[in-house]
Amino acid sequence: MEYEDRFRQNQRPKYDCLLFDLDDTLYPLSTGLAKACGQNIKDYMVEKLGIERSKINDLSNLLYKNYGTTMAGLRAIGYDFDYDEYHSFVHGRLPYENLKPDPVLRNLLLSLPYRKLIFTNSDKVHAVKALSRLGLEDCFEGIICFETLNHIHKSTVSDDEDDIEFVGGSDTTTKKDDSSFQIFDIIGHFAQPNPNTVLPKTPIICKPSENAIELALKIANLNPQRTLFFEDSVRNTQAGKRVGLHTVLVGTSQRIKGADYALESIHNLREAVPELWEDDIKSEIAYPGKLAVETSVTA
Ligand SMILES: [Mg+2]
Repeated sequence: MEYEDRFRQNQRPKYDCLLFDLDDTLYPLSTGLAKACGQNIKDYMVEKLGIERSKINDLSNLLYKNYGTTMAGLRAIGYDFDYDEYHSFVHGRLPYENLKPDPVLRNLLLSLPYRKLIFTNSDKVHAVKALSRLGLEDCFEGIICFETLNHIHKSTVSDDEDDIEFVGGSDTTTKKDDSSFQIFDIIGHFAQPNPNTVLPKTPIICKPSENAIELALKIANLNPQRTLFFEDSVRNTQAGKRVGLHTVLVGTSQRIKGADYALESIHNLREAVPELWEDDIKSEIAYPGKLAVETSVTA
């Protein structure tokens, strides 16, 4: 017993940081934002990129599946567009009025004595707006968002072989510096697979690429083994687990491979992960890299 007490006193808290996805993690799917966003993306593809509406469902599914986000896939197969314009089109008309202040979640977050960060594929404008609507804007140390991981607007296909490891392949069928406007036919590629053709790479860095997660961890100075990652996406959760994070799948109580915990709602956090409140946290241990992150995380 004595040994146990001594051991407890010297034991560090299990986590330094809680890393939260935003959309469908900090608020539920029932708000309708995800559905509206999906429709806006399809409208953008038709109205701004001139893609035939009959192809949109197949195309957006393939792009999302192979590149993490539809946007990353559109860039990979050869479409060029302004990232800010894309984000303002797909997020600008979302039903933000459905996001209401969430004092329950706010109190939960404020009672957790750890570093807390947002890690989202969305852009900063959307993240700030959504957090503000939820009344959570001051609950986080910083936001790692699209702009944090993708600094340039008109990027060329990356030379970094590691950028999109999750789509496989390294050759680029479509070169962005070609003067001709050439689009890789990804629907045709999957309809009649040719072993000699590989998927083009995307210049966009986003979840569930392990490199995107590793970059986020590096920017925020986080040790994955001391970070608890909250996500509604199964594949993002599993990618997080592969890079060494502790993981919480949000939105279902069914645990899957790669998730250490599963919560129907983020509101169930105290019941599902009570040890978060049990550790005797010492501030000098819990906030090792605070200053470094404050100056670099928010894009
Ligand atoms: Mg999400």
